[in-house]
Amino acid sequence: MSALKQITIVGGGLAGLTLGIGLRQQGVPVTVWEAGRYPRHRVCGEFISGQGQATLARLGLRELFVQAGARNAETAAFFSTKAAAPARELPARALCLSRFLMDDLLAQQFRTLGGDLRENERWRDEYSTEGVVRASGRRLQTVVNNGRWFGLKAHARNVPLVADLEMHVSPHGYVGICRLNDEEVNVCGLFRRTTNATNVPAQWQERLRGPAGSLLQHRLASAKFEMDSFCSVAGLFLKPQRASLQTGCCVGDALTMIPPVTGNGMSMAFESAEIAVEPLAAYSRGETPWAEAQQNIARRCDQTFAQRLVWAAWLQRMMFAPGLQNVLVFLAPRGSWLWRAMFAKTR
Ligand SMILES: Cc1cc2nc3c(=O)[nH]c(=O)nc-3n(C[C@H](O)[C@H](O)[C@H](O)COP(=O)(O)OP(=O)(O)OC[C@H]3O[C@@H](n4cnc5c(N)ncnc54)[C@H](O)[C@@H]3O)c2cc1C
Repeated sequence: MSALKQITIVGGGLAGLTLGIGLRQQGVPVTVWEAGRYPRHRVCGEFISGQGQATLARLGLRELFVQAGARNAETAAFFSTKAAAPARELPARALCLSRFLMDDLLAQQFRTLGGDLRENERWRDEYSTEGVVRASGRRLQTVVNNGRWFGLKAHARNVPLVADLEMHVSPHGYVGICRLNDEEVNVCGLFRRTTNATNVPAQWQERLRGPAGSLLQHRLASAKFEMDSFCSVAGLFLKPQRASLQTGCCVGDALTMIPPVTGNGMSMAFESAEIAVEPLAAYSRGETPWAEAQQNIARRCDQTFAQRLVWAAWLQRMMFAPGLQNVLVFLAPRGSWLWRAMFAKTR
């Protein structure tokens, strides 16, 4: 039997490491290049919702997360600046774990399975080369329609919540507060800043605490933020992309980013990684040419994600339409159909 071909994965985030683990479980030789180090905080709501949990279970990773303290989220509540909706049971449980632990656990698992992880090394070569998978995270887009998206996150204590996830919407962004282990919460927001905006808070804490007099500000009134956990990200590109139109083989956010309100980005990272395992293993064994493996992955990713990306883009527009925010907060938890549809269609 001829030697297995090597797979190189650029990016040791969730998609890259999950793919690396899946390939190592099939005995494929894999190198992951990661520009950063572990453990590290990432901007993320830390709320895994959707099919990705089944992927984690199949790869034997869900149990690792649970042992590390992952927490089930069973309820959610929506708020606008002035109106509060009652907490409601989620149609399906989500899993919450800090990215500080999660990425590190995956990195350790990849190494345990014999993967070659090159920490602190940035890939500067082409992505279109045979055997190279792009898992390098979001594509950069500085200005979209006269504005820019950016994300902030920090862990905090002393934040009493009425649900496992509270979602607070305001005209300039939304902030999710999610219960983690050990009385800690994750406070994470997506914001839009127009290029000519004035009067915007310069301090991240002020941003995360929400507009003056809002229910969010009230909720975080006595929050004690953990300064080391603060991180930010800018230049987010939220327009849905099709895998079959990309150059190179992409998984996770490098393929496309789903609006964070869905809590489905991590799930898509896990799912797209799982989709890629078999075609890449077949390429590695010499059974499939590279172009065919790449097309198989792209086709399956498009089939799996196209519909949820459309619904998620619609939900994101609702979240940022000032007139509709209160309607959404009022209606979503009251109408069972809308509540279930909002979850089912976007993940
Ligand atoms: C505000 C906000 C809130 C969110 N909330 C949630 C949520 O609650 N639930 C959810 O499921 N998702 C959420 N997401 C989305 C989620 O964080 C992403 O979908 C997920 O991290 C994607 O994983 P990834 O592996 O594709 O990318 P990343 O996790 O970004 O990993 C990419 C990795 O590639 C590395 N890299 C990049 N370029 C190179 C290079 N040239 N060489 C080597 N390494 C490189 C980077 O250092 C990084 O480690 C949120 C996102 C934002 C912005």
